[in-house]
Amino acid sequence: GTRAGIVVTGTEVLTGRVADRNGPWLAERLRQAGVDVAAVVVVGDRPEDMRGALEYLAGSGVDLVVTSGGLGPTADDLTAAVVGEVQGRPLDLDPELEQRVAAVVEELMSRRGWRADPEATAAGVRKQAMVPAGATVLEPVGTAPGLVVPPAGARGGPVVVVLPGPPSELQGMWPAALAAGPVREALAGAAELRQGTVRLWGTLEAQLAATLREHQAGLGGLEVTTCLREGELEIVTRFAPQAQPAHDHLVAVLAEEYAATLFSTGPTLDELVADALRDQGLTIATAESCTGGLLVARLIERAGSSAWVLGGITSYANSAKEQLVGVPEEVLAEFGAVSPQVALALAEGARARFGADVGVGITGIAGPGGGTPDKPVGTVHLCVVGPSGTEARSVRLRGSRTAVRERSVVLALHLLRH
Ligand code: ATP
Ligand code: MG
Repeated sequence: GTRAGIVVTGTEVLTGRVADRNGPWLAERLRQAGVDVAAVVVVGDRPEDMRGALEYLAGSGVDLVVTSGGLGPTADDLTAAVVGEVQGRPLDLDPELEQRVAAVVEELMSRRGWRADPEATAAGVRKQAMVPAGATVLEPVGTAPGLVVPPAGARGGPVVVVLPGPPSELQGMWPAALAAGPVREALAGAAELRQGTVRLWGTLEAQLAATLREHQAGLGGLEVTTCLREGELEIVTRFAPQAQPAHDHLVAVLAEEYAATLFSTGPTLDELVADALRDQGLTIATAESCTGGLLVARLIERAGSSAWVLGGITSYANSAKEQLVGVPEEVLAEFGAVSPQVALALAEGARARFGADVGVGITGIAGPGGGTPDKPVGTVHLCVVGPSGTEARSVRLRGSRTAVRERSVVLALHLLRH
């Protein structure tokens, strides 16, 4: 099959100041194109490290390398020079490209109301118009042009696609990169691959592994990866079209053995909740204590969610629970803020205050302090009140403050999905 490597450059990414969005995005796109991704290598803005990464990938026999970042006008942007050197193609000034980049820079600056000083920008523009001999130029989406650099002469080795670092520029340039002749040639052997997803909630990974072993014989031709995410076991299969029966067999096996925990054969939890609300024409509102609005923030992530999400109240203090949501003072006094009774009152209050069909209440002790023997850290009460009745859960979640808050949201979404 066809294999590719990705080199993400930038000291800001290497040090974690900026979370890498390009490596995962490119890996997913390449997988969709039927390409096996061998490695994603992250390096800083040091030419010797970039060279090392390119040589390592070439040595591992990949057909294609995609790089991100280091195409800007500044001195730390060195990718084009390093790639040119590794591919045996010295840089040349492309005077036409220089003019196009200059025009783009000028337009960009005037649009932002900055005075363009051609002399100050000339050196940077010239740098961005230095192209490895024989490379294909990808038109700039921002100011930096991208490059497709085949190996020179009889050297062999991968085609290197050089893309800018800002994710919107990189993504905008991707279709042009795929359309470039040398990339099409490198990907010519890539086969169409299908992908399937099954999601379980409440099954142990070890248990699933045993099931997969047991049914191994019927799963030929499937690449199965399992991953534990947010308490959910996500099973992803990749397969050539002719292995579709094996995939269908796996789904049937899982549906039978895990009837109680299999909740999706595709859509994410968030998608299921949104679809359920939209399809039933229901509106929703929340009153959150320990999750501080995380649930409503997640509910509105989907574009168009204003059709079903009315809003949420972050009622952290008891006074807020009383005054903003209408939790009765006596209930707070008798049972305490962290109690099933208050979760119910929050759900009912949210529903009433917003005039929603469905109300959700969450209250708990996220920690690390504040726990007591009868209400330890991680105690969370959730309640959903809707047209089909009331559903409540009381749990003791483990983990850090962040983990307890995030798991509470996932639990609430599972309560909401039906
Ligand atoms: P520029 O002309 O903007 O300098 P460039 O191709 O040189 O483009 P970089 O300097 O590497 O790109 O990155 C510019 C900015 O883009 C970074 O400061 C960062 O905010 C963002 N960026 C770069 N790489 C990534 C990445 N892998 N993931 C997320 N954001 C990134
Ligand atoms: Mg830069």
